[in-house]
Amino acid sequence: MFETLKKATLDKIFVLMAEYAADPRKEKIDLGVGVYKDPKGITPVLSSVRKAEQKLLETETTKTYKGVVGNKEFSAAILELTLAGAVDASRVRCVNGNGGTGALMILTQVLGRARPGGRLFLSDPTWPNHLPLTENANLVPHFYPYFDPETRKVDFDAMMQVLDGLTGDDIVLLHGCCHNPTGANLTNEQWDVVAESLKRTGAFPLIDLAYLGFGDGLEEDAYGTRKVVSSVPESMIAFSASKNFGLYRERAGVAMAIAKDSEGAEVVSSQMQNVIRATISQTPDHGAEVVRIILEDPELRAEWEAELKEMRERMKRLRTKLADAIRERSNSADFDFIAEHSGMFSLLGLPEETVGRLKTEDAVYMINDSRINVAGIPEDRVGELADKLLAAVRA
Ligand code: PMP
Repeated sequence: MFETLKKATLDKIFVLMAEYAADPRKEKIDLGVGVYKDPKGITPVLSSVRKAEQKLLETETTKTYKGVVGNKEFSAAILELTLAGAVDASRVRCVNGNGGTGALMILTQVLGRARPGGRLFLSDPTWPNHLPLTENANLVPHFYPYFDPETRKVDFDAMMQVLDGLTGDDIVLLHGCCHNPTGANLTNEQWDVVAESLKRTGAFPLIDLAYLGFGDGLEEDAYGTRKVVSSVPESMIAFSASKNFGLYRERAGVAMAIAKDSEGAEVVSSQMQNVIRATISQTPDHGAEVVRIILEDPELRAEWEAELKEMRERMKRLRTKLADAIRERSNSADFDFIAEHSGMFSLLGLPEETVGRLKTEDAVYMINDSRINVAGIPEDRVGELADKLLAAVRA
């Protein structure tokens, strides 16, 4: 049986993680893996999460199946957090996903049923997992320009040239905030233009919202999502609680479908449930229940929002520190974009060869495309990192 199989390629990030783990050099710096890290380099369990888990432990009476749609109260709380009533609830249906990826899987599968062989437009570049998710759903990946490697900003004109030419049969995947891998994001005014374009062309928006609250704040980061879904008749959102609640391995996410009306919403809901039943049957509930407890309890919610703010502000501070250190050393504003980007990542725009040299000679690890995780910047060694980056760029 297995002789017919070829070895599949692993996501390059897992290869890099293994290389980093095996590197004996004490001074090594991990800017690769996409998880938040605190000043000690640890991805912590949030205090609000620990308290909610304690509550759960004390009050949970059964582990029986929850049902195919998952934890409805969790979905309702996430819907409110994300949309705050931007669309009438009668048009929305939610199911839980196995993290944000699971939510994307459910949504893309349903879209593949609606438009078999249809075009799904991804940003260039995008999170690599968007490609197999698209192909596995019987959709064909296409790209719209997004990042200008010269300015390290969004190439908005080029992006709109493609979006404006789409049709009502096309699907567009948009990063709701904190773009991965670039860190370059749309302004509110640009979101308004995107929403207008989608309304005009009829192209269908699928919004990947994996970092709500990691950019400028919960409300600020939701602007684009709310604008788009309130401008068009139909849309979908894949929400991940992995980053903002630090629940990575617990796999908490919500797939939301917004239809023209309640009847349409029922149809799409039945399709989402059908996908879940035939793939994973039920979604994990521990993380979902933890998030529900936090969001429904005013004290825990306030504590979580404070913890989220602390993570966000730390990443902003690290961005500013690194950009400042490079500017001081180089007398140029070439890396100021690091401070202007938002979210957990920045795409430095370095050639792969430079990225390789930083790894082998300086033990500085980042993804091949030169994406760095800003949460991995060691705050007490920013100057050293700036020296290494500049030396590598100049070599
Ligand atoms: N979308 C994007 C853009 C991401 O970066 C991630 C996490 N790396 C996800 C979705 C999904 O995350 P998870 O499945 O861990 O919730």
